[in-house]
Amino acid sequence: MDFGIKGKWGLVCAGSKGLGRACAESLAEEGVNVVIVARGVEALAETSEHIRSNTNVEVRTVAADITTSEGREEALDACPGELDILINNAGGPPAGDFRDFEVTDWEKALQANMLTPIELIKTVLDGMIERKFGRIVNITSAAVKAPIPILGLSNGARAGLTGFIAGLSRQTPMHNVTINNILPGAFATETMNGRMAAMAKQSDQSIEDVAKSRLKAIPAGRFGEPKEFGQLCAYICSAQASYITGHNFLIDGGVYNGTL
Ligand code: NAP
Repeated sequence: MDFGIKGKWGLVCAGSKGLGRACAESLAEEGVNVVIVARGVEALAETSEHIRSNTNVEVRTVAADITTSEGREEALDACPGELDILINNAGGPPAGDFRDFEVTDWEKALQANMLTPIELIKTVLDGMIERKFGRIVNITSAAVKAPIPILGLSNGARAGLTGFIAGLSRQTPMHNVTINNILPGAFATETMNGRMAAMAKQSDQSIEDVAKSRLKAIPAGRFGEPKEFGQLCAYICSAQASYITGHNFLIDGGVYNGTL
């Protein structure tokens, strides 16, 4: 199936590794030129080389912190004037007991996982509306649907973004601009490995044991592959997906146990 987005331009935030990288790769496979932002130059170089050697698209990289206004400015400066696709993503906030979180921890979480996507959307949305094409995807978390007790910062900040998007996403589809969220469950990425290592240390278990007990709770019996996530993202960005807006796509191997 041709997704009808060949030659378009996409900005993929936090796109040098994991889920963001998978979105950049899948979009590039559909012929989308990509601007990839992350802080570390090495992973950025490796990812861009990988995409260039597997596709014919143009790849631009920006080494910047997307959660700062300077970083966002650098990212947008590297984009062509006419941006068609925006993938919002950033690292998740740390785990912990909410009693230990200071106001500054909340401010960081809100900045990374709520205000940064909103600021980027504010900058690119009207151009998309004018040109009658736009696809915005926010990478959030399964924790938005089923909160994870030790991830209070993530539960709170991402729920704030989700509420905002629920309202905004109904104001744009008449212009062929859609806004959706993808909610990852457990995917095999650096972030998840880090979280499992922390849990192993905390509970005095091996990482293998922590992984085994996590797998028991996943009906699919495995962790998600980033590619599966990237391909869903590319479909939501396709020309065919113009009638889908304001949705929260949970991709979790069946963990969420609910009828709807
Ligand atoms: P990952 O594999 O660790 O990759 C994170 C990416 O984000 C890297 O490219 C990293 O590059 C970049 N990044 C982090 N902070 C950034 C910043 N301030 N500015 C620019 N780039 C930044 O992580 P992931 O698993 O793909 O996670 C992506 C998002 O999904 C996170 O918010 C995570 O909490 C959420 N999530 C993941 C899972 C999962 O199972 N993997 C589940 C639920 C939610 P640099 O460090 O070089 O900047």
